[in-house]
Amino acid sequence: TIKTRFAPSPTGYLHVGGARTALYSWLHARANKGEFVLRIEDTDLERSTQAAVDAILEGMEWLGLNWDEGPYYQTKRFDRYNEVIAKLLEEGKAYKCYCSKERLETLREGQAAKGERQKYDGCCRDAAPRDTDEPFVIRFKMPQEGSVVFDDHVRGRIEIANEELDDLIIARSDGTPTYNFCVVVDDWDMGITCVIRGEDHINNTPKQINILKALGAPIPEYAHVSMILGDDGAKLSKRHGAVSVMQYRDDGYLPEALLNYLVRLGWSHGDQEIFSLDEMVQYFKLDDINKAASAFNTEKLQWLNQHYIKSLDPEYVAGYLQWHMQDQQIDTSNGPALSAVVTALAERSKTLKEMAEHSRYFYEDFAEFEETAAKKHLRGVAMEPLKLVQQKLAAIPEWTQEAVHQAIEETAAELDVGMGKVGMPLRVAVTGVGQSPSLDITLFLIGKARCEQRISKAVE
Ligand code: GLU
Repeated sequence: TIKTRFAPSPTGYLHVGGARTALYSWLHARANKGEFVLRIEDTDLERSTQAAVDAILEGMEWLGLNWDEGPYYQTKRFDRYNEVIAKLLEEGKAYKCYCSKERLETLREGQAAKGERQKYDGCCRDAAPRDTDEPFVIRFKMPQEGSVVFDDHVRGRIEIANEELDDLIIARSDGTPTYNFCVVVDDWDMGITCVIRGEDHINNTPKQINILKALGAPIPEYAHVSMILGDDGAKLSKRHGAVSVMQYRDDGYLPEALLNYLVRLGWSHGDQEIFSLDEMVQYFKLDDINKAASAFNTEKLQWLNQHYIKSLDPEYVAGYLQWHMQDQQIDTSNGPALSAVVTALAERSKTLKEMAEHSRYFYEDFAEFEETAAKKHLRGVAMEPLKLVQQKLAAIPEWTQEAVHQAIEETAAELDVGMGKVGMPLRVAVTGVGQSPSLDITLFLIGKARCEQRISKAVE
């Protein structure tokens, strides 16, 4: 069975590039009824933090990318790495290297001066074992002839001559195993059949394959996914705007929208744009991942977000809106059902943050009418229709959207003015601002008592 993994280094938040890699790995597993492993690559003790681990887990959970195994932590597996290193030493597939920093530096400088490839010269590779307590690192004996070949699902056939590969350090002088080595042991132990990761790791692959071969481990398949670019063509980074998954949550995006956006950013299925998670699972194929790097496009993400705000079950969307209401300290305990607010505002909101900002008046009274709107609509003759509609609204026996609509219509007819002459002062009176969804639904949701109070205040 197919087994994939997502293996983030916990040195910061979960960024969108990582999330896309995670999504592709998750989809490949789910599409093939396989398994998905989460592994935290925390061997860089100086840069790894618990806060980053938490942020990654939170991001994965928010996106709904559930894992079948893990999270594993590399720092808990040092005994296992050391065991494998000992075995490689014993079998003569790795060796202790006593070369000093100075010697290596001189070597590199010499090679650079001659325009040669910078590479360890193998000084300790075939030397007799030493009986000394000098510090050493452990290097893996790369094959010196032949080449490594693999068929990358995204980039096609890749062949690297072994002579281009250095004798990789697998344990540092303090005894700790190095990153590339831990990855190999993990992928082997965890039974990973397919490694999906960013193309920035492609240079590690031939080295990792050679170590796997030396261990007699099966070689997984590989898919190296292209980078995500900003709108200026440079690698996507903070200066282009939000890059962390949780920032997108905070900015009012639904996980469905971000997932749909990310899956299409580098993968396609015909010209279909909208994919539910189920559809992604149904159609996803590694071989349909694009080779070219793709640029992040916030407008398209917003378009998708609004699509989901409008088309998902309002009750469901309301759950996320509630989060934003809380975030903006709007107390929703006294007012309409949030799902009704979702329905009323969906057409006008690209994000849930925006929706929350525009729905405060359903739940809370405001101290002031917005100045420009009030100047225009709440004075002089503009107030006449408001006074009449006030009476008609007060007379409504059962507060429904239709009754409100009728009251407004009758007012306009009696005064022989356009609906706008009634609607605008009324809108400013009950919402405090010049923009809202249609008035009948807005007044209906605000409720009779609150509407009456606010209109009285406006006509004072
Ligand atoms: N830990 C690596 C990263 O966060 C991923 C390594 C891998 O997928 O092999 O970039």
